[in-house]
Amino acid sequence: MYVTSAHDTEIRLTLEAALDFVNALADGEVNTRSSLHHHGFSRAANTSEASIHRIEQRLAELTPRLRSLPGADPAPTVDWINSELAQLNIVPSLTTHDDAPLHIHWTPASASFDDQVMADVLMALAQEVCDHGTERFGVCAATDCEDLFYDSTRNGSRRFCPDPRCASRTHTADHRARKRHN
Ligand SMILES: [Zn+2]
Ligand SMILES: [Zn+2]
Repeated sequence: MYVTSAHDTEIRLTLEAALDFVNALADGEVNTRSSLHHHGFSRAANTSEASIHRIEQRLAELTPRLRSLPGADPAPTVDWINSELAQLNIVPSLTTHDDAPLHIHWTPASASFDDQVMADVLMALAQEVCDHGTERFGVCAATDCEDLFYDSTRNGSRRFCPDPRCASRTHTADHRARKRHN
């Protein structure tokens, strides 16, 4: 049986939130607040527009590196993560907020939401690179889609980004190609 711990789930959700932003930025349809909320950042619901804007700016700065994660060498990725972590005020704290159960933030209780999001994203990346290197990051296999995905399948079999249209139109095309060859 494939057991996923709450810790793994949190890392997956945080990485997916970051990739979601990268993909949305490329597609020109960024909805950072709802994406963050959807990926477990409960503070996103009530934070200010200015705070969301700061998060978007800071994630946009990480975007070129995030885009290059699929197939990236672990060594330069490690150097990059370390240099990003060194710029953050990482002071773990236990917290409850917005009806969430007791959990750990990597930032002090007084941290702004954008500081918290950046620390979460970088710490999730750090843990991910320790556990799996960069192998779980991939680019969608559909033609004319360059979106990224995080592959949490046990056997590393994921091929498509979260947009369900990519998998379905590619399967349709595969099916047509097979028919032609039969
Ligand atoms: Zn929290
Ligand atoms: Zn896609």
